[in-house]
Amino acid sequence: MTGSLVWFRRDLRSYDHAALHHALAARGRVHAVFVFDPALLDPLPRADRRVEFIRHSLAALDAELRAAGGGLIVRHGNPVDEIPTLARELGVTAVHTNTDYEPSAIARDAAVAHALTDAGIGWHSWVDQVIFAPGQVLTGDGRPFTVFTPFRTAWLRRLAAEPARPYPIDLTGRLAAPPAQAAVPSLAELGFETVDGPDGAGTSAARRLLADFLYRIDDYHEARDFPAQPGTSRLSVHLRFGTISVRELVALAADRAAAGSTGAESWLSELVWREFYSQLLAHHPRVATEAFQPGYSRIEWAFGEQADLQFEAWCAGRTGYPLVDAGMRQLNRTGYLHNRLRMVTASFLVKDLGIDWRRGEAYFARQLLDFDLASNNGGWQWTASTGCDAQPYFRIFSPVRQSQRFDPTGAFIRSFVPELAGLDDRSIHAPWLLRTSVLAAAGVRLGQDYPTPLVDHATARQLTLERFASTRTLRA
Ligand SMILES: Cc1cc2nc3c(=O)[nH]c(=O)nc-3n(C[C@H](O)[C@H](O)[C@H](O)COP(=O)(O)OP(=O)(O)OC[C@H]3O[C@@H](n4cnc5c(N)ncnc54)[C@H](O)[C@@H]3O)c2cc1C
Repeated sequence: MTGSLVWFRRDLRSYDHAALHHALAARGRVHAVFVFDPALLDPLPRADRRVEFIRHSLAALDAELRAAGGGLIVRHGNPVDEIPTLARELGVTAVHTNTDYEPSAIARDAAVAHALTDAGIGWHSWVDQVIFAPGQVLTGDGRPFTVFTPFRTAWLRRLAAEPARPYPIDLTGRLAAPPAQAAVPSLAELGFETVDGPDGAGTSAARRLLADFLYRIDDYHEARDFPAQPGTSRLSVHLRFGTISVRELVALAADRAAAGSTGAESWLSELVWREFYSQLLAHHPRVATEAFQPGYSRIEWAFGEQADLQFEAWCAGRTGYPLVDAGMRQLNRTGYLHNRLRMVTASFLVKDLGIDWRRGEAYFARQLLDFDLASNNGGWQWTASTGCDAQPYFRIFSPVRQSQRFDPTGAFIRSFVPELAGLDDRSIHAPWLLRTSVLAAAGVRLGQDYPTPLVDHATARQLTLERFASTRTLRA
């Protein structure tokens, strides 16, 4: 037995890669594998952006490995069977991978590790997806943090002591001969349709986004809240699938922040939020299905036919609140949703429609290209006020004020809700307040071209305050 097998999952790149680095440091040739798991693929709709992103990123990774004399082995099946079988076929001494902290991945990896150990093959799982693994940043008395600000302080202190450094990778002459067959199946062979095309996938696309963002990073803290502006990096999907290294991003941001960039400091904080939610889910896996604050599990959310119809209208971007609708249509059309609008749309579902945050969370999980269980759950629980360090329940976003403040000219609304494009910058935020003649002049027939509001915000706000307050009474 000789050599190693690197199992790629959420780390689809060939540079600065912990598992690849450690496999190369061991003796013998290095093989690379990716496993398509039918249990995950089969239930998906045939047009699925994430499958497409993964497929194109795998093709790019395979090309990088082939250029260095290797190539990707692609298997289809349950990884719990596929990885030990392949490791035995190849005769490797060890399997290296990067740790995934989601509950289902932890269970799967434990089963793979068990099977490998039984076969006398080593199993090594490395920290790569985050800078510090759950458990590496703890409170003074050794407990997981549940409040963000002290977590960030402790995280930054640890970063200062142990700066994020890239793992050097030299593939020259070290990869096992490429697999005979063309490794990566086409999208059609996988049984899926094209949605976006290959341009946005892989490390090269991530590099283009990063290069563009580095021109703007110093203004991030000012521009990040305005969805019509290119204020954020758009790197979330690349962090999700590891087509860019988080160590590289954190090192860049920390250097710029140390040089005095407030924008870089603010961006680094967002990367720390990602780590905060990752460790939160790992330490408290129950949040995947229930409120972090147990008392809020007793909230009585709206249900029944009317709630179902309102939920459908929210999903479709037809609530009658232009910014909410623009956000939901951005999500549906592109698979991306600006952070401000994730908060605005989520808040509207929970606090204006009174619908259980878990229904919205599940919808985002289906639609988001960058869907990440920890961040999505964390974002929803923050907005719904059920999370550990959440928005207080009595702070309720006004969808109109958010619109006036963060899309002041209505540019974002116009790009996703064209039926309101004729309204002027001031009127576009609340068309139901306009006179019929003004609407007519802009070519809008309210209730026909564009819906009247599903609810009155002031009334809905009051109901939400009562809903949360009654839960507090129950808890007291
Ligand atoms: C309800 C809700 C659901 C969300 N669901 C997801 C999700 O499924 N996947 C996801 O990656 N992010 C999620 N977020 C966080 C955030 O909205 C996105 O990470 C961000 O909009 C991605 O755009 P960007 O890459 O341009 O971010 P930037 O502003 O450029 O931020 C850089 C990176 O920091 C991380 N980040 C930024 N904000 C947050 C945050 N609030 N929480 C955790 N990480 C953050 C992301 O990895 C992001 O790519 C959610 C937020 C909310 C409120």
